[in-house]
Amino acid sequence: MNFDHTDQQKALREEVIEFCRSSGINDGVDERDRAGEFPRALFEEIGEGLRLQGLTVPEEYGGRGLDPLTAIVGLEAFGYACEDSGLVFAVCAHLLATSVPVNEFGTDEQKRAVLPDLCRGKKVGVNSMTEPGAGSDVGSVAMTAVRDGDDYVLNGTKTLVTNGPAGDVGSVFAVTAPEAGLQSRLTGFLIDLDTPGITRGPQFDLLGKRTTPVGELEFKDVRLPASAVLGGREGIGFAVFNHAMNWERIGLFAAHVGTMQRLTESAVARARTRRQFGQPIGKNQAVAHTIVDMKVRLETARLLTYKAASRLDKARDVAMDASMTKYYVGESLVATARDHLQIFGGAGFLNETGAARPLRDSIGATLYSGTSEIQKNIIAAWLGL
Ligand SMILES: Cc1cc2nc3c(=O)[nH]c(=O)nc-3n(C[C@H](O)[C@H](O)[C@H](O)COP(=O)(O)OP(=O)(O)OC[C@H]3O[C@@H](n4cnc5c(N)ncnc54)[C@H](O)[C@@H]3O)c2cc1C
Repeated sequence: MNFDHTDQQKALREEVIEFCRSSGINDGVDERDRAGEFPRALFEEIGEGLRLQGLTVPEEYGGRGLDPLTAIVGLEAFGYACEDSGLVFAVCAHLLATSVPVNEFGTDEQKRAVLPDLCRGKKVGVNSMTEPGAGSDVGSVAMTAVRDGDDYVLNGTKTLVTNGPAGDVGSVFAVTAPEAGLQSRLTGFLIDLDTPGITRGPQFDLLGKRTTPVGELEFKDVRLPASAVLGGREGIGFAVFNHAMNWERIGLFAAHVGTMQRLTESAVARARTRRQFGQPIGKNQAVAHTIVDMKVRLETARLLTYKAASRLDKARDVAMDASMTKYYVGESLVATARDHLQIFGGAGFLNETGAARPLRDSIGATLYSGTSEIQKNIIAAWLGL
């Protein structure tokens, strides 16, 4: 067991941090946050400059061809150095829930059609499963895809779709076998969001991560050719979705580990410089111990994430590791963002001091990619409970 980064991982980490510092990506984040504005030009710049959106995609399809653990180190660096959490979320969701499953399951034709533009950030990717009546309970998805000659006709509504309002391509999951069990009820389709019959809803007004465009996608008699079936096979939609979720629960939450490091460093700096009662506030054990808890959470979260990432291309099923990572890192990010704000005192409550936004941005981590409660259900099931 070796806990050190390889030379390649060190170089990637430095490259990502340097890019974030020199590209102006951290300028104007508060203004964008207030306006709820998705910085599409920056999304594209990240694709051109770093190809983060295609980290694990083979070079022949326009990606960087990195192994999962190295890619995860890169995403952690991105969450550390990029202060626009909404942009981090948009990039990670795009990579992990669109580029990765298309690369894994897509036919050669599908990969050639979409991966080069996805990897370069020229197209924005979506992954749409959730519906108004089906969130945690994926088995109650109601969108239908009915075979009609050589085509499928899709009807239904997807909601809470990350990147939806700005999206170009991605996956949508619909029922093709209503009588079948969950394992074979659903089929994934690779969609171009400009297909007639698809309507992108407006961007939701979010509590946090306000620079991510999230919204509804409505499908009304959307006609897709059979070649749009993701992976070329009916009935494997649930497996495709779960594969994407395993990656998202590890990769997106690796970015959150990076954010936890940034917040911990920020809390240390504040506790060393803010003076009350004639000394730095960090000299009070109550404050120091809070930061120690932040540090221990950070290191634990990182170990769990790296361990899960190291199994992504080796273990047949990493679902329990992915759920443990998602649950622990998601809850830890919220706790760390709250501790960070507390150390800033009253100033932390002001939007302009930079401690309030991380707390707002963190809350969603216990909800998206499956809630904390659902992760516990998955872990319990793996334990035979
Ligand atoms: C910012 C954001 C981005 C998102 N992006 C996407 C996306 O790109 N694509 C997509 O498909 N979806 C996306 N989602 C949707 C997300 O996956 C769902 O919100 C999540 O799965 C929960 O579903 P729900 O909101 O319908 O809550 P519900 O399923 O209605 O759950 C409500 C509450 O009940 C609890 N609960 C429900 N069932 C159980 C149970 N069996 N045991 C214990 N507790 C239970 C839940 O944990 C939760 O606390 C996103 C959500 C957010 C907030």
